[in-house]
Amino acid sequence: MNMMAGFGLTPCPYCHRAMMPWEPGHRIHRCETCRRPLVLFRLLFQSRTWRIAPLAAVIHAGAALALILGVGTAILLDAPPAWLVFAVALPIAALGAIDIADGWLACRTGIGRLFLKIRRGRAAKTVGVLRVAFGLAGCAVAVIGLMLFGEMHPAPPGAAPHPTAHMVHR
Ligand SMILES: [Zn+2]
Repeated sequence: MNMMAGFGLTPCPYCHRAMMPWEPGHRIHRCETCRRPLVLFRLLFQSRTWRIAPLAAVIHAGAALALILGVGTAILLDAPPAWLVFAVALPIAALGAIDIADGWLACRTGIGRLFLKIRRGRAAKTVGVLRVAFGLAGCAVAVIGLMLFGEMHPAPPGAAPHPTAHMVHR
């Protein structure tokens, strides 16, 4: 799976079907079977090992990390609630967008994954519809959160007065 030399027969990390060889120099490739964009990357401390992951999984991991870091930072800095909303809404919007894209591809290709299990045919289409609905709901929640963020008084963390002083002003 990770060997540069065996690329011609590398199975797709999403649908596990053998993929056509990647064009040299390209970091992003689309699987011919499931049509998911895949990304080629090296780990920070294992620079000799190349790995392939579905782009959606990479964005998913990044959004989860951003959520943890953003919420953690907002709590540590004692930031106003609006910042916490912002830290939660943005990763949720990214996750929602990925769900919509993946669900759409599941409907189009008849290959979808739910809880790490590959579904094909009609089951994949059901999974796809559910994921699109789930993604839309996530985006709606994020948009509502950001609208509330606009309603509150945003201020840069360093320049913000103490939260209690902030409340007195309102
Ligand atoms: Zn595939």
